[in-house]
Formats: sequence, structure tokens, C-alpha cells
Amino acid sequence: TAAAVEELITPPVQISYTQNLIDGKFVDAASGRTFPTYDPRTAEVIAHVAEADGEDIDRAVSAARKAFDEGPWPKMTPYQRSLILLRFADLVEKHNDELAALETWNNGKPYEQAVKAEIPMISRLFRYYAGWADKIHGLTVPADGNHHVQTLHEPIGVAGQIIPWNFPLIMFAWKVGPALACGNTIVLKTAEQTPLTALYAAKLFHEAGLPPGVLNVVSGFGPTAGAALASHMDVDKLAFTGSTDTGKIVLELAARSNLKPVTLELGGKSPFIVCEDADIDKAVELAHFALFFNQGQCCCAGSRTYVHEKVYDEFLEKARARAIRRTVGDPFKKGVEQGPQIDSEQFKKVLRYIRSGIESNATLECGGERVGSKGYFIQPTVFSNVQDDMLIAQDEIFGPVQSILKFKDLDDVIRRANNTRYGLAAGIFTKNIDVANRLTRALRVGSVWVNCFDVFDAAIPFGGYKMSGIGREKGIYSLKNYLQVKAVITPLQNPAW
Ligand code: ADP
Repeated sequence: TAAAVEELITPPVQISYTQNLIDGKFVDAASGRTFPTYDPRTAEVIAHVAEADGEDIDRAVSAARKAFDEGPWPKMTPYQRSLILLRFADLVEKHNDELAALETWNNGKPYEQAVKAEIPMISRLFRYYAGWADKIHGLTVPADGNHHVQTLHEPIGVAGQIIPWNFPLIMFAWKVGPALACGNTIVLKTAEQTPLTALYAAKLFHEAGLPPGVLNVVSGFGPTAGAALASHMDVDKLAFTGSTDTGKIVLELAARSNLKPVTLELGGKSPFIVCEDADIDKAVELAHFALFFNQGQCCCAGSRTYVHEKVYDEFLEKARARAIRRTVGDPFKKGVEQGPQIDSEQFKKVLRYIRSGIESNATLECGGERVGSKGYFIQPTVFSNVQDDMLIAQDEIFGPVQSILKFKDLDDVIRRANNTRYGLAAGIFTKNIDVANRLTRALRVGSVWVNCFDVFDAAIPFGGYKMSGIGREKGIYSLKNYLQVKAVITPLQNPAW
């Protein structure tokens, strides 16, 4: 596969937007500074983007504040808002191929994955939330005493949103969709590795009729722009997706500043459990997909593959053969399953974990090296004989490294699967409904996939137990992240009728 990386396809798209989008206009950073963004296939610079810091965050927040306080956005009818979301979804569909190409170019993910699955999911999600916009309403409450009591569900205000680099536009959609459907205004900070597609999408939103100041998108680094947003006194709500360590920092910044409520979607170390009665070929394929999808850069990756001792040897042999068959190369090439890791830092980190696996005496079944001599490509890597106390079984590696562990019975695997600080997701492979039901209820995780994995939908909530996060995104559940509840109590004349 090394040769496949040498000749690269020219991305079929131009980079048109590199400035911050504040109050409906593309503008340079207040400091005039820019930072480079890269093609992870080559580590070459593809554009310089405006670098936001505290001053730009102030400007973006005051634009969002004004758009919220003075309108028209929160005061428009929900139906008018939903029409703008629908028009945006149409534009995403129209620009599907350019958005996908830009995503692949800046992130390294397979173009086929972006063009066929990821970008279509974005228009689908905005249509889903357009459907919610005019169905959000409060209750009348039968309280004691002679009062008419009602609740109003109001937008929370200015939402600060900080997103990661692994699914740049999907993360944009999960954050922006529900916030706008509820009538909020937004300042969104993209990850410094992948600033390009959100700027393009935000431009399309303005074409769709979004008023200026409602959606402000800034590029910049975490400790400067991100921290300024998390600690801003005029931001009413913070939504963050990223690592658990950074999640703790932003939660603290939110608490120390104005106590803005925070939702967090953080790391994971999800178990993928293969029971003795499972269809082994299907389990091998899905366990492979659960870990290697998106270069292993998924917070919910099935990164602890627990296999019943009776089927362990057969599973291992097939899992190894599957990983060796995985095609690594230019993500723009048809049929390529795996592109490069996102950047030099992640690339080095994954290789460090591979060394740690070898040093702790896990058995390296295949892979373990980089592919080619440029960019951030890593061989699909499989470890067997992995023990729970090894670093590779405990830490989130965020790369193409599958760890296979043996288990004896259900009690054993339940205890071990739950023995982690994380609780994002789990996969279960069995044909026995009783086993599936037992595992489903015993696992302390936010998503359980039974005989499937990574099934996502705008309507299905996603989020973590334990240190994998706070709150849920998508579905009906993410609406409440973006709403305030106001109780209104009015005395009734006595008698009321
Ligand atoms: P990763 O390690 O996967 O890059 P991070 O959690 O560091 O994940 O990054 C996720 C997002 O959080 C990015 O947009 C990043 O810029 C931002 N971020 C990083 N550090 C901070 C911080 N101290 N305050 C606010 N945001 C931050």
C-alpha cells in the first residue's frame, strides 16, 4: 500500500473562505494574524486562515448578543425559522460534492465516506431540526390553589460551541441544528486543524436567508479563542465536543465566569463484545469497522474488542486477515478505506501507543508502522493478548489500533467492560436475546449497538455516562440544552367558572 500514497489526486475544490464570519461578514482577525491549515496526506500548507483570539471572540459574541436581543431571529415565527433551516439543507445538498472534497482535503477522511454518508447526514439533520422548530411548546400545569399555570419554552440566548476535527461538519450540524431550531444565536469555534468546511457551510446559511449575527464562525486555538468563548460573560450556554481533559477545563471556565450551563461530549473506550454464539464473520467485519472507521478517530470507537474464549482463536485469525486487507492510501482514490491521521501530534501519539502495546507484551498481530514517507498514514494495527491494565486497553488512542481481549463468561465481561472511566458506547454481538438484554442493561454507556455499530441518525440521542460527558445531543433530547423554561402563574378569579 505504500506506493498508493505517493501519487496524489488534486482535490476537486477551491478554498474560498478563510476569514472569520462575524455579523454576516467575512473579516480578518482583529490582530491581523493568520495560521496555516494543512493537507494531512502531505503535511503541506493548503491555506492560511484568520486566527481569532479574545478580541475576535468579543466581537462575535457582541454580534450574537445583538442578534438575540434585538432580533429578528428569536422573534421570528418558528415556521419562518424552519424554512431557513430547510433552505440551508437544500444548499448543502446542492454543494454536497464541494463540501465533501473540502472535508477530505483538510481532514484526510475517505472522500467516498464524506460524499455518500457524512454530507448527506448534514442536510438530513437540518431537515429533522427544521421539523422541530414549530413543535416546541410548553405545558399547562394543574397546580394546587386557584391559579392558571403555564410554562414557556424560550431560547436560552447566545450559545458558545466548540467542536473537534474528526467530523468537522457533522459536529457543526449536531451543534448548530438544535440551537437554531430553538431560536438561539451562536458563536462557533472550529478545531484549529479543520477550519475550512464550517466557514463554507456558514456562508451557505447566509445565502439561505439567515440574518447577520445569528451564526458566527471563528477559527482559532483552544487556549486563546476557545477559552475566551468558554469564559465569556455574555455567552448563555456552552456546548463542547473534544477530549475529556479539555472538557474539564471548559467546564471550570464556564463555572468560574457566569455559570453558563455546559454540555460535554468527550472521550471513550468503548467495549465491543463478541459472544460465543455470534456470527463470527459478521462480528469480525463490524468489530473492524467499529475500530478502524475514520482512521480510528471516533470518540465512540470500539477500542476494546472482547471475544469469548471459545471463539477467540477463530475471531483473531479473521480479524488479523481483515486488517491486513484494509486499503490505506490517498483518501480521494476510489476504494481506499483509510486515509492519514489528522496531524503530526496525533500521528506521533498513535505510534507511541503502539510502542507501549509492544513494550507491555501484547502480541502485535499486524501493522505497527507508518505507511510511506510523507503525511500521517499508519498501518492498520491489531494487538492480541491485551490485558485490561495495559495502557492500550485504558487510554483513548484515537487511531487505527485494535486491541483484542479474551473473556470467560458474562459476569467477567460485564465487570471488565464497565471498569473504565468512560461510558460512551458499546457493541454487543450475539444471537441470544437474553444475553443481549442482560448486557444492554448492565453496561453503563450512552449508546448500545446490538449486532450493529455506529448507526447514527438525527433522531437518535448520543452522549456519555461517566467521564464521557454530560447531556445528550441529537433527537428530542438536545432541544432542552438550548431552551429555558419559564413558569408563568396567574391568579384565577374565584370561582374560576
Ligand atoms: P483533541 O485532543 O482531540 O484535539 P481537544 O479537546 O484538545 O481535542 O480539542 C477539541 C476542541 O477544543 C478544539 O476546538 C480545541 O481548539 C478546543 N480547545 C482545546 N483547548 C481548549 C481550552 N483550553 N479552552 C477551550 N477550548 C479548547
